[in-house]
Amino acid sequence: MSEVLNECTEARYPLEAFAADIAGIEMTLDARAIRMKSRDRYAVSPLLRTMLEGKEADVVVSPTTLDELKRVVSAAVRRRIPITVRGAGSANYGQSVPLKGGILLDMTAYKGIVSIKPGAVRAKAGTLVTDIEKATRESGWEMRFHPTTARVATIAGFVAGGMGGPGSVVYGILRDRGNIRAIQVMTMEEQPRLLELTGPDAQFAHHTYGTTGIITEVEMPLVTAWPWIEAIVAFPDYIDTVRFGVTLANQTGITRKVVSVQEWPTPRLIRQFAGIVPEGHSICSTMIADHSWQDFTALVESQGGKIVSMSAEGQGPYGAPLWEFVFGHALAQIQKSEPKRSMVEGFFRAPDLVDLVSRVHAKVSHYGPMRMELIRIGGDVVGSGAPYFTYESAEQMATLVREMQEAGAMVSNSHTSNVRSVGKKEITERDVAFKRAVDPHGLLNPGRFEVEDSSDAKFAIELPTDQWDSRLA
Ligand SMILES: Cc1cc2nc3c(=O)[nH]c(=O)nc-3n(C[C@H](O)[C@H](O)[C@H](O)COP(=O)(O)OP(=O)(O)OC[C@H]3O[C@@H](n4cnc5c(N)ncnc54)[C@H](O)[C@@H]3O)c2cc1C
Repeated sequence: MSEVLNECTEARYPLEAFAADIAGIEMTLDARAIRMKSRDRYAVSPLLRTMLEGKEADVVVSPTTLDELKRVVSAAVRRRIPITVRGAGSANYGQSVPLKGGILLDMTAYKGIVSIKPGAVRAKAGTLVTDIEKATRESGWEMRFHPTTARVATIAGFVAGGMGGPGSVVYGILRDRGNIRAIQVMTMEEQPRLLELTGPDAQFAHHTYGTTGIITEVEMPLVTAWPWIEAIVAFPDYIDTVRFGVTLANQTGITRKVVSVQEWPTPRLIRQFAGIVPEGHSICSTMIADHSWQDFTALVESQGGKIVSMSAEGQGPYGAPLWEFVFGHALAQIQKSEPKRSMVEGFFRAPDLVDLVSRVHAKVSHYGPMRMELIRIGGDVVGSGAPYFTYESAEQMATLVREMQEAGAMVSNSHTSNVRSVGKKEITERDVAFKRAVDPHGLLNPGRFEVEDSSDAKFAIELPTDQWDSRLA
């Protein structure tokens, strides 16, 4: 055993002693398993692809009970071995790639629904979002919004690494008040404690990439589950499509779940849309509750659009739920045929949103067709998107960011790997104090969010992006 350990780890950490401490708990030193679990979907970024390559854990540990988790944490702290927590590994900033080796804590076996009551579901960290949805729909409820990776992502991975998704056009995003009811975390101490973070305090563990405690349970609010109709509406003109999307997003009387505007030729770049979208047409992909269908079709008609596809959720001719063709998922679909296409993460917020998008479009549309999801942030309808461009260099990407900013967009950095430089989290002194209290030795996903800003590892060429709160608070 010790030979294997030393061979794999260059004896960076006292893994032999750690293994003895956690005897009976599933762990592996298999190089292939370690390689697989040390990756997420960061390859979506050409910058992260090169910078995170080869960063690996030394051991993968998979606890199945709270007691096992406590033993793992206690031993890791005693031996000063870092822990990087992982759900399904579907995040796209590389935020579950261990920067300093150590333990990869696979939480997927710690799963199961804890409770469902009117308006709320509580589940263990490793529960798949899709399993939560299946369970709550039995009693007529669904999550307010979910990531487009719902079929693979865990609930803890979503709240620790995600932002929003289908449903966000109505309910906002994870950082909006009330969208996370509670998060239970285990502290990274020799005597681990369980803390219940409720209401606004749940934000301490949101978007911190597993650096502010190991999430053990999550409680999310629920809303009525409607039978959803997926529809693709086509327009010959892009700005008309934007106008329709913005109008639909603001239709509080129409029960809608997705409003995503994609400029031509995006529908051609997505293979599964072949034969559905007429040549030269931009599209708005939507999900509408069946009781709102009549009002929706009247709106489409009044705006000059044409419904080119309509089907029950998950039954469309494109072979997957329509929500797997929007948000970050649209790029993943495009990269199947055009792997060099890339994105930055722009946000458009203005009283006249169509005008702002028109200005950004006029400035940057030569990079490639634009994508935009309509979501709510702080109650306002906001556009989130950018052109799909063919990646050439980091300088090209920085120029695109600057041009979008000049036209009035805010841009966050989707090509970096730590909490501060992604720029999507407001970090107050309370957040830093919480981090210090739950992880006193700095062992949780080190490099991603340290007490001292200067200790964060910067795994990306710096882009001239904005911090979240400068224009979106
Ligand atoms: C194609 C594609 C589409 C996407 N679409 C969306 C979208 O619509 N909306 C959205 O918000 N995101 C989206 N994402 C990113 C998103 O964050 C993930 O898909 C998902 O929410 C993460 O879940 P996961 O279980 O895979 O987490 P992982 O990737 O395993 O982890 C994500 C982060 O959470 C941390 N973490 C995981 N489990 C725990 C735990 N128990 N305790 C503490 N920290 C933990 C990890 O350390 C990591 O930093 C997308 C990504 C891709 C590749």
